[in-house]
Amino acid sequence: MPLQDRFRIAAEAARGFMPPAEGRALYQAAAEYARVGPVAEIGTYCGKSTIYLAAAASEVGQFVITVDHHRGSEELQPGWEHHDPELVDTATGRMDSLPFFRAALAASGLEDHVVAVVGRSAEVSRLWRTPLGLLFVDGGHSQANVTADYEGWAPWVAHGGALAFHDIFPDPADGGQAPYLVYLRALASGAFKEVSVTGSLRVLERTGHGIG
Ligand code: SAH
Ligand code: MG
Repeated sequence: MPLQDRFRIAAEAARGFMPPAEGRALYQAAAEYARVGPVAEIGTYCGKSTIYLAAAASEVGQFVITVDHHRGSEELQPGWEHHDPELVDTATGRMDSLPFFRAALAASGLEDHVVAVVGRSAEVSRLWRTPLGLLFVDGGHSQANVTADYEGWAPWVAHGGALAFHDIFPDPADGGQAPYLVYLRALASGAFKEVSVTGSLRVLERTGHGIG
């Protein structure tokens, strides 16, 4: 099923870091792999990618579980490249993307298909016990964060399910290398094979055991 216009419009209107072509590819991946199990997203931010995932999940009666502490990654803090001053909570002076996520998700009409978890990814992963149809890794982009996301969550990708990474830049001139290095590790593990590349989005299907 193609991405419905109302969901595409809602996703494009949300704040975030996913170009429309990558969003459509993310939707396609979720439409295929949500048949295997629920979708987990690491890195909600303001819900743009969540809406693409939820549009797909809603078609097959699945949930998206989206995890974020909503305090922003390093590169989202004041003074950094991707900082959005409107996301600073004036009462505390800290970043808070949660209200923006909630508003965007409500506007999309997909609230019933999303479970939002507010917390640190590594801590949430230690409590997680459910095999996943699709895992989308787009949280903190430092080596420590991406590695923790991979080690904590990728073991839960079911056989026949998929692991997707955002912000994969083989050329350092295009962006940070941590997601790329972890993506290479996933490929080298022999447990995943690449099934699609769209911009910086890479989708790997689980064809073997473990995570390497
Ligand atoms: N997927 C979003 C963008 C996510 S930006 C989109 O496409 O629109 C990365 C997000 O990861 C930020 O909101 C940040 O708060 C979150 N994040 C960074 N490190 C994290 C961690 N250790 N645990 C949970 N969330 C984290
Ligand atoms: Mg991203």
